[in-house]
Amino acid sequence: MSNHHDVIVIGSGAGGGTLVHRLAPSGRRILLLERGGWLAREPENWQAHDVFVDNRYVSPDTWYDARDRPFQPQIHYFVGGATKLYGAALYRLRAEDFGELRHQDGISPAWPIPYDELEPYYTEAEQLYEVHGNRGEDPTEPFASAPYPFPAVSHEPRIQQLSDDLERAGHHPFHAPCGVRLVEDDPPRSPCVRCATCDGFPCLVHAKADAEVLAVRPALEHDNVTLLTGAEVVRLETNPAGTAVTGVVVERDGTRETFTADLVVLACGAANTAKLLLASANDTHPTGLANRSDQVGRNYMFHNSQAVLALSLEPNPTVFQKTLGLNDFYFATRDIDFPLGNIQMVGKSSAQMYRGEKPLETRLAPERTLEQVARHAVDFWLSTEDLPRAENRVTLRSDGRIRLSYAPTNEVPKRRLLEQLKGLLGPLGMHHDHLIPRHAYLKNDIPVAGVAHQAGTCRFGDDPATSVLDRDCRAHQLDNLYVADASIFPSIGAVNPALTVMANALRVADRLLDRLGAQQARPEALGAR
Ligand SMILES: Cc1cc2nc3c(=O)[nH]c(=O)nc-3n(C[C@H](O)[C@H](O)[C@H](O)COP(=O)(O)OP(=O)(O)OC[C@H]3O[C@@H](n4cnc5c(N)ncnc54)[C@H](O)[C@@H]3O)c2cc1C
Ligand code: SF4
Repeated sequence: MSNHHDVIVIGSGAGGGTLVHRLAPSGRRILLLERGGWLAREPENWQAHDVFVDNRYVSPDTWYDARDRPFQPQIHYFVGGATKLYGAALYRLRAEDFGELRHQDGISPAWPIPYDELEPYYTEAEQLYEVHGNRGEDPTEPFASAPYPFPAVSHEPRIQQLSDDLERAGHHPFHAPCGVRLVEDDPPRSPCVRCATCDGFPCLVHAKADAEVLAVRPALEHDNVTLLTGAEVVRLETNPAGTAVTGVVVERDGTRETFTADLVVLACGAANTAKLLLASANDTHPTGLANRSDQVGRNYMFHNSQAVLALSLEPNPTVFQKTLGLNDFYFATRDIDFPLGNIQMVGKSSAQMYRGEKPLETRLAPERTLEQVARHAVDFWLSTEDLPRAENRVTLRSDGRIRLSYAPTNEVPKRRLLEQLKGLLGPLGMHHDHLIPRHAYLKNDIPVAGVAHQAGTCRFGDDPATSVLDRDCRAHQLDNLYVADASIFPSIGAVNPALTVMANALRVADRLLDRLGAQQARPEALGAR
C-alpha cells in the first residue's frame, strides 16, 4: 500500500465512520485509521454482568483528573467507536440550541451556523442511520424536511401507560427517535429482535444502527477505501511553515509508520482529538497544533446526566424500554425560569446490573430483593445542558496522558429536573418516595469518568481567537486539517449528541468533496434492507 492518500480519516466512530461513508463513492483514495479492532460478536455481548459489572467492552486507558488522580474512562476503542455501545437515541438538537440561550449558570453560546444549514444533513443522517420516530408529537422538535424514514418503535404496555398518564397530567410525551433496525410488521424479516440488552450493550445480531454496521462496512465495499485497525495515531507532522499537515504518524503492532494525504480529518472523540493536537506541538505550533489561541482542549462538556430508577406499583415487564421522551422542561417557561433539560427512558435494568450499587443495596434491599426491585423498576435518564467553560479542559501530563479538569455546571437545573419527575411519580403509578440514582448506566462513581457524551475541546466558530476551527470545521491555522467529531460542538444542548455528530460529518464531507473536485456522492439506496 502506498503511504499517500487523498484523505486520511482518524477514528471510525459516529464522526469518522459517517464521513468516510460519504466520501467512499467518490473514488478518491481514503485511508481510515482506527486504534481499536472489530468488536467481537460473542455471547457476552448480551450478558449484563459481563457488560455492566466487568466492563468487558470498556477499553483500557488511564486518564487523570485535575488533582492528578487516575481513573478509567468509560471509553470504547472499536471500529464504530462509542456507537457500538450507544443507546441509539438519535435526536436532533432543537433549532434554538443553535442560537444563544440563557441558562441558570450562564449563556449557552450560539453555533456559527444556523439550524437550517444542518437540517438537510440531519435528514440524511436519519436516513443513513435508519431512525424510527414520529414527527409532530414533541412540541420542541425543530423543522424537518422529511418524515422519519421508519415508523416510531411502539411502546410496550407499561410504557404506553406511562405515556397516557403523562398526557393526562398535561404533558407531551413522544416516541423517542431510535436507531434500531426493527421491522415490527414483519418480524421474520426484522434484523432487530427487540431485546432487553441494547442500551449500553453491543448488538450481537448487528441490528443496532451503529457506525460500524451502517457506515464503515458499506464504505469498505469501495476498493478505494482502506481501513487499518489497531492503528493509533500518535502525532501529526507539519510543513516548516506550520500551515499544513504533512505526516500522520501511526503506532501499529509495536512499530511506527508515517502516512501522508492531501486532506486529514480528525475524529477521535472530543478528548482524544484534543490530545492528538496537543501532542503534535512543534516549533511553529509550540503549544499544540491549531492552538495559537489556546483553545484546544478547552470547553469540554459531557451533559449533566442522571440515571434514576422509579418503582412502579404494578410490575414493569417491559423488554425494550427506550421508546419514550419528554421535552416539556427543555426550555424556560412561564413557570420555569431557565431550561432544565430532557427526560427519556434508558434500557430496562436487571438485578444483575445492580450488584455493588450501594444506593440500591442499602435503601431497598433486603426490604425488597434486587429481583423484586428489577421487576418493578422504571428507568429514566435525565439530561441537563452542560455549559462550556474555558477551565473545563483536556491537557496533557508530562507523560503524554490525558488530564481532564472538570467542574459541573447547571447543578441547580439538574436538581430541579429531578424534582419535576419526582412530583409526577404519583400520577404515573409509581411509589412517591423512591427515585433511586443508578450508577450502572454511568458505569462509575467518579462522575468525570462518565465520558459517553464528551464534546467540545475544538469548537468551530468565525473568530480564530475563540475557536479552533472555521465554520467548515477546518483548523484556522492549518489549511488541510479538519475535525469531524463531537469536539466541534460550541454548546451541547440537552439531547443526545450522536445524530448531530453524524449530520455534521456529512456536511464536512461535502466540503472535502468540493475541495477534491469530486462529484458530491449522494447517499446510495439509503434505508434499503
Ligand atoms: C454507553 C453509551 C451510550 C450512548 N448512548 C447514546 C445515545 O443513545 N444517543 C446518542 O446520541 N449518543 C449516545 N452516546 C454518545 C455517542 O456514542 C457519541 O456522542 C458519539 O459516538 C461521538 O462520536 P465521535 O465521532 O465524537 O466519537 P466516537 O464515536 O467515540 O469515535 C471516536 C473513534 O476514534 C478512535 N480513536 C481515538 N483515538 C484515536 C487515535 N489516536 N488513533 C486512531 N483512532 C482513534 C476511537 O477508537 C473511536 O473509534 C452514548 C455513548 C456511550 C458510551
Ligand atoms: S434491541 Fe435490537 S438493536 Fe438493540 S441489541 Fe437487541 S436486537 Fe440489537
